[in-house]
Amino acid sequence: MNAVVLLGAPGAGKGTQAPMLADRLGIPVVATGDLFRAAVRDGTPLGIEARRYMDAGQLVPDQIVVRLLLDRLARGDAANGVILDGFPRTRVQAQALDEALAERGERVAAAVLVDVPGEELIRRMSGRWICRAAGHPYHERFSPPHVPGICDLDGSELYQRQDDKPDTIRARMSQQLSALQEVIEHYRASGVLRPVNGLQGITDVADAINAALVGTGIEPAGTTEHAAG
Ligand SMILES: [Zn+2]
Repeated sequence: MNAVVLLGAPGAGKGTQAPMLADRLGIPVVATGDLFRAAVRDGTPLGIEARRYMDAGQLVPDQIVVRLLLDRLARGDAANGVILDGFPRTRVQAQALDEALAERGERVAAAVLVDVPGEELIRRMSGRWICRAAGHPYHERFSPPHVPGICDLDGSELYQRQDDKPDTIRARMSQQLSALQEVIEHYRASGVLRPVNGLQGITDVADAINAALVGTGIEPAGTTEHAAG
């Protein structure tokens, strides 16, 4: 089983790449947020345990998250590997994952980082504007209105919600980036970090990820060399 960790800040395009990579590699994406919601919803023993912490307003301990993850990795469709999305988020979680995999004789084979500079992330995340009349969404770069500051559909004024203003985004982002940086350093130290330039188009990033995985033992279907005989 090959575990690939997909790393990237919010807005880096990781969420777009995860299913594309899964398709190419023929292995599933495991998003821990989804696992969690499913376990709580289905009332599994781990879900019930997690729920107790959540009801008490506490963070669910990393050990429970890792056990949930290991249960998922034991399913048949993960036999050839998984892409982890949304985990680990901290150095402690990365260490817990390493220990848990090591007990099974496995390891993280590659940690792919979709790398986008912080200021660019802030520009991407903070470009959202909505109209006063109906909340129609726009983005300065990706879907600008025909006339700056005016809704195409109803002519009302566009404004930015507090949450979408650059200062708010910058404050939130700096916390997330410092945790991400710890995880990056963890995988850099263990020699499996594979950074790719996230400042490219979607297909170029996908190609860069493919190239970064060469030699890690995880390669897209069709590119693996089969031993003769
Ligand atoms: Zn509007």
